[in-house]
Amino acid sequence: MRTTRPVHYLDHAATTPMRPAAVAAYTEAASTVGNASSLHGSGRRARRRVEEARELLAHHLGCRPSEVVFTSGGTEADNLAVIGLATASSGDVVAVGAAEHHSVLDAAEHLITGRGGRNDVRVLPVDSRGVVLAETVRDLAGEVGPRLALVATMLANNEIGSITDVAAVAGPARAAGASVHTDAVQAVGHVPVDFEALGVTSMSLSAHKFGGPLGVGALLLDRGAEIEPIGFGGGQERDLRSGSVDVPGVVAMAAALDEAVREMESEARRLSGLRDRLMEGVRATVPGVIANGGGDRLPGIANLTFPGCSGESLILLLDAAGIECSTGSACTAGVAEPSHVLLAAGAGEAAARSSLRLSLGYTTTEADVDATIAALGPAAERARVAGLGLSRAGAGAS
Ligand code: PLP
Repeated sequence: MRTTRPVHYLDHAATTPMRPAAVAAYTEAASTVGNASSLHGSGRRARRRVEEARELLAHHLGCRPSEVVFTSGGTEADNLAVIGLATASSGDVVAVGAAEHHSVLDAAEHLITGRGGRNDVRVLPVDSRGVVLAETVRDLAGEVGPRLALVATMLANNEIGSITDVAAVAGPARAAGASVHTDAVQAVGHVPVDFEALGVTSMSLSAHKFGGPLGVGALLLDRGAEIEPIGFGGGQERDLRSGSVDVPGVVAMAAALDEAVREMESEARRLSGLRDRLMEGVRATVPGVIANGGGDRLPGIANLTFPGCSGESLILLLDAAGIECSTGSACTAGVAEPSHVLLAAGAGEAAARSSLRLSLGYTTTEADVDATIAALGPAAERARVAGLGLSRAGAGAS
């Protein structure tokens, strides 16, 4: 007879289970027909639902409903902001933080390699917490002046959870006439976020990071922003983003955010308690483990380096023990690259290959944390042996 062992899911930063309220909203909206662009009754009812979702998001995120542009998720929102704002600007310098998500970094890369390669892209250094400092942007604005088109700096890092003082970084860039984009995909639904108070031009979010469905998100965009579309068609969203709006998706996203915001304060307390229990437990069981990040950070992300272990071996060993986590961004998890975030924050290459991201969310319990602590000791011991084997093989090849 097959036995099923419980899975302890500690990969909420990759995606978090849909909240029951979001599932109910999705199911209800998906059971009625209607394209929000149609003029007949079904279309008007679908439009009403989309506009209600827009208003709820705007209410929780400190912007006007007309500033919410629905997209297919965080990646599209980041691509649209970086490419669209840079292309519309008369300036040519685009600055992106070194620890940004690949949906920002690779969009910036495209501005060099695609579209006539007209941009001068600068990668902004980050400090040991992985965040861009305001003085770095002030110096750049002083150096390039009106050539500065766009600065992209993330609100919360997806690998180590560090929170950037985005308002402080945005100040000198906006004063120089540049646009500022912030990727708030990991922050929304977890810590308070107020678009207007951040003083940015645009901000991205993604429903599946706070209990909504995969494949839906939004770009919040200042009404006065000059931006070019990156996709073409019906122009359903502000003549900027084309494609029929995913009605059940945006309705469920709004329901998820509504619940996440209502529970935010108590959840932040509960999750940071669980995260500290996890980190203390791991430190007591695994000698030499190093905690990455620190300072102002998300309550649910712990990033740990296990010297001498391969991060990928650790993931597979933990998976076999019923613990699911990742080495960093799930989007690059299939590729055996060292974490660009840890490298940017000053870690050596060996350390950047020996790290794990354990991310907690609204379904995480003490039992998940304790099972992870219990599994990590033996897994680290075995991964260390595997790591030694790997480095011997590597040395032989060179
Ligand atoms: N930005 C950050 C910081 C992320 O963590 C992710 C997803 O991992 C994305 C953008 C991309 O979001 P999506 O999965 O909705 O495309």
